[in-house]
Amino acid sequence: MANASFNDARVQREQPCRLCGGQQAHLLAETAYWDIRNTRIVGCDACGLMQLDPMLTGPETDRGCLAYYVEETLRTAPREQVRNLVRNYRRGVLFAWGLKAQGHRPRTLLELGPGSGYFAAGLRRIFPDLEVTVMDVNTEVLHLNARDHGFAGIRSMPEEHHTGLDDRFDLVVARDILEHVIDIGAVLRNVMHYLRPGGLFHFITPNGHEDVWKHRLRHHLGRERSELLINHVNYFDGRGLRQHLEQLGFDRVTYYTYGLKTTLRGRGWSRKPKLWAPVSRSRSAGEFAEDRLHEVQGVAHRMDAVLPSWYRRGPVWPLLLLSAYQHGHFLRVDPARGIGHEIHGVFRKRG
Ligand SMILES: [Zn+2]
Repeated sequence: MANASFNDARVQREQPCRLCGGQQAHLLAETAYWDIRNTRIVGCDACGLMQLDPMLTGPETDRGCLAYYVEETLRTAPREQVRNLVRNYRRGVLFAWGLKAQGHRPRTLLELGPGSGYFAAGLRRIFPDLEVTVMDVNTEVLHLNARDHGFAGIRSMPEEHHTGLDDRFDLVVARDILEHVIDIGAVLRNVMHYLRPGGLFHFITPNGHEDVWKHRLRHHLGRERSELLINHVNYFDGRGLRQHLEQLGFDRVTYYTYGLKTTLRGRGWSRKPKLWAPVSRSRSAGEFAEDRLHEVQGVAHRMDAVLPSWYRRGPVWPLLLLSAYQHGHFLRVDPARGIGHEIHGVFRKRG
């Protein structure tokens, strides 16, 4: 049932694949990123990566990201925003505990696109001496990470290479970032450079087959341009992503998809109309970013306001039990099968 496919048309790419340089592609969907750009989603014949062609530019994603941030924050209640911080902290605790159980003791961490910083804060509950550096283009994100957690910050796109960071980190984390980056090839090469030999790279990213499905339905069955509000510009194929990481010089430690509920509900295989992506309305990015930015009230981010005190002090086992109960991935599937909602990976740099 997974990955039922359509007869995708062959297309001439405007730009080569950012992962493998391939020129051969098939058309998955026509889509519009806000009112910013009409583009297509194409699948690379060589490596399986699905991505926008033509790709968005840096300024285009900046505009769309800000609009999405404002739109999303306006529809998420402050209480729910705080819950998300707590969840990310528990996920960090659980992930760190897994590393520790495997004998890893990272001392230096670089997190790309850290958001609120609560995942890394959770890691530090298990590894109290962990030195955390975060990288983001958004100065507000860096400010909050410094204020709330004391993390060092680097203002940069993840595509830029900083030679001063080479071989410095035991662990690089990119959670829900890879699907957003314009040049995925450059980002993965940078991760490789920044890690020490033997260092670990952890990421999560949506299963591309499921993520792109709604756009394919709109294209193939509705013959219309779909609406793309969140800048997912890369849609990963589980097999191709793994092959690429191995070619770069990584070895797989853990690699699986989780979240099978969405597959059961039909994403990735069913043609039900409710799964179709909305038709593009060329929604105005400016309407959110410029006109409503002032309405976004930041929630309190400080650890003592967000986390119960027993999360941060005392024995760790109650927190571990709760975290495993809430966020443990007990059903794991090989990403090569293209089912499940999210791909979880830990890869080790060879050498
Ligand atoms: Zn490719």
